[in-house]
Amino acid sequence: AEYEEPTTARRADVTYDDIGGLGSTIDQLREMVELPLRYPELFQRLGVDPPKGVLLHGPPGTGKTRLARAVANESDAEFFLINGPEIMGSAYGESERALREVFEQATANAPSIVFIDEIDSIAPKRGQVSGEAEKRLVAQLLTLMDGLEARANLVVIAATNRPEAIDEALRRPGRFDREIVIGVPDERGRREILGIHTRGMPLAPDVDLKELSRTTFGFVGADMAALTREAAIEAVRRIMPKLNLDERTIPPEVLETLSVTRSDFVEALKRVQPSAMREVMVQA
Ligand code: ATP
Repeated sequence: AEYEEPTTARRADVTYDDIGGLGSTIDQLREMVELPLRYPELFQRLGVDPPKGVLLHGPPGTGKTRLARAVANESDAEFFLINGPEIMGSAYGESERALREVFEQATANAPSIVFIDEIDSIAPKRGQVSGEAEKRLVAQLLTLMDGLEARANLVVIAATNRPEAIDEALRRPGRFDREIVIGVPDERGRREILGIHTRGMPLAPDVDLKELSRTTFGFVGADMAALTREAAIEAVRRIMPKLNLDERTIPPEVLETLSVTRSDFVEALKRVQPSAMREVMVQA
């Protein structure tokens, strides 16, 4: 296996509890993906084919990858990640081979979820691409999707922030015929996400997560994660002068008093910008 990275199966350990502000999306995915993977007999009994492909559509950093990992984990399914731009970058013929290998492994290890991140980069509209290699990769993906048996117990989840840019043929029945829109979180969503990312963080009593979620309009999950990381770095900066850097460890009494304060978050807010501002402006 020379082509290791994207084909390595790894059981994901993220759960639905690690995803904030996407309650109804999780419900939809459970119905579309988790139920059929866990109880294929339900769908066989009813004589319907569960979906083979689900397209997650939304701006970057909103949790699409994390969501796919969580569904795999909660469904007890193997998780295979294909990174669109990465697979595109490989040598001639190599991309198709890598794609085939992932599908083969996923089929052999079913139940499984194949997650294709940034699918627009491997399956752009064929009329708009110049290269033969790109066209062949789209064709390969279509062939692989069509070749999946309904009872394969394998679901392909793909993510994009440009659904209009992908080849229409991909969205026909039996391929990515379900679509879930994932938006920028609202205040409640941001509050949930903050709760998740500060779970293991000692917070000073003056930290008001509700207020923070109000003042972070336009922040997506990735921004909220960055914000809490920055706030923690602020706390470290604050404590640095108190440290004796000749010592090998930090005295417990110093460590025990260390927490992240409101002003650490205020400082962090100066450095983290909402990455989804453009989308938010359009929606507003
Ligand atoms: P991209 O399209 O850029 O790959 P994405 O939508 O797949 O982005 P993720 O990679 O899942 O986003 O999220 C990046 C990080 O941001 C996550 O590891 C997590 O720390 C945080 N994050 C994003 N969305 C959420 C969310 N809804 N709840 C909790 N954390 C989130």
